[in-house]
Amino acid sequence: MYPLSPPAIYAHETVAANPLYNARLQRVVAALETPVEPVIFADEDLPRIIGEERLFENCGNMGEMDEVPDPKLVLNTFRFDGKREERTQWLAEAAQVAPSHAEALLGYRPWAWSNYNLEGDPARHDKVCRPCWRLHFQRGCVHKCAYCSLGGVLISAVNAEEWCDNLGRLMDAHPWQETYLLEDDADVPGLEPELGCSGEIIEWFGTRPDRYVIIHTKTWNADWMVDLKHNGNTIIVWSLSADTQSRLIEPVCGTMHERIEAARVAQDAGYQVRYKFKPIVPVRNWREEANEAIDLLFQKTDPDVISLCAFMWHDVESMKRKLPVDLLDPWALQAAEEAGLTPSETRAAPFPDDVRAEIYLHYLREIRKHNPDVPVSLSTENFAMWKRLEGELGCTALNYVCGCGPNATPGRTCLTEHPFKIAEAGPQGDFNAM
Ligand code: SF4
Repeated sequence: MYPLSPPAIYAHETVAANPLYNARLQRVVAALETPVEPVIFADEDLPRIIGEERLFENCGNMGEMDEVPDPKLVLNTFRFDGKREERTQWLAEAAQVAPSHAEALLGYRPWAWSNYNLEGDPARHDKVCRPCWRLHFQRGCVHKCAYCSLGGVLISAVNAEEWCDNLGRLMDAHPWQETYLLEDDADVPGLEPELGCSGEIIEWFGTRPDRYVIIHTKTWNADWMVDLKHNGNTIIVWSLSADTQSRLIEPVCGTMHERIEAARVAQDAGYQVRYKFKPIVPVRNWREEANEAIDLLFQKTDPDVISLCAFMWHDVESMKRKLPVDLLDPWALQAAEEAGLTPSETRAAPFPDDVRAEIYLHYLREIRKHNPDVPVSLSTENFAMWKRLEGELGCTALNYVCGCGPNATPGRTCLTEHPFKIAEAGPQGDFNAM
């Protein structure tokens, strides 16, 4: 696992009481760079741990912090007792924390229904993502990407077997969803293989006919997955960045070279690999660096999908606080300053359409020099950008295959059913209450 020196490590009493879960805790503790004695806690201790012990003191936008320590670790178990709402409300009020933090600390929210482009989605019509169930096993990350705020605390469950049992019920109730993203709140290889949970999940998916888990990562850490019985049902999607961005803006993730090498290791072990260039930060020599990354990924691997997404979800001032401004391409920065876009106008802010389109077309044309057929899609972009580029992309906002959506099965090149309509089938309430 990653060399970590967390300021503290907490383990819920249900972890310490179970020999299998406790063994996972002890392996993680033994692998730390700096030894830390785990603190065993009960639910009732959480308000004190959050308040007096300042559990979340190191959380915030990492690019705005002078120093980013490794995250504090919290190991707990998911509970499937139907009390999610009442327990979450108790902790959120008792400790004055966000409900999302309370849920994670109490072992709720093993998955979440993402109602993208359906009734009630606040960003409906501004991004092309498909509605689906998304899986959560952790919240927090060991990487320290400058634009991210998932540092400070890493909460991980340890009861992978129980999680899988309940996930099976969710999957049986939603047969239209073939692929399941694991994680958009974490990067699960960070504690592996010591934690020993991602391997359980991969092997469990290996027993599910025509169902796939998509592990989304920026990691260099892939050796642990080589001998697992994945049975072709695990897809690993690497968020890949070109050299400068990977070293200076995402400093603890694998470098560009290390991520591609990790993908090669996974591919040689039989996993389907794919890439997202996400987020693409236009640094000064972004074109040459993009060419280098694309050249190397095709030298070493054979992805079935590549997705593109420019840096977004920020206004220009927020971007400048988080990213090293002197690294940015003056052309792109000036265009962002002049456009003055904010995420309340479009999630695609701060770079205006012309800048993002130029970035996408450069990447796309470079990819096509190596592979004329691999599906290339825009990730979390809006419908206007898709309309603008669909001729070059060779697919549309409604039929493209993406890196992590609900029907992105290995090797698929085009969706055959409307992604917003197919997802409306099936019960949700019971599973959201877990
Ligand atoms: S890898 Fe993802 S979750 Fe982890 S710090 Fe970077 S952006 Fe955040």
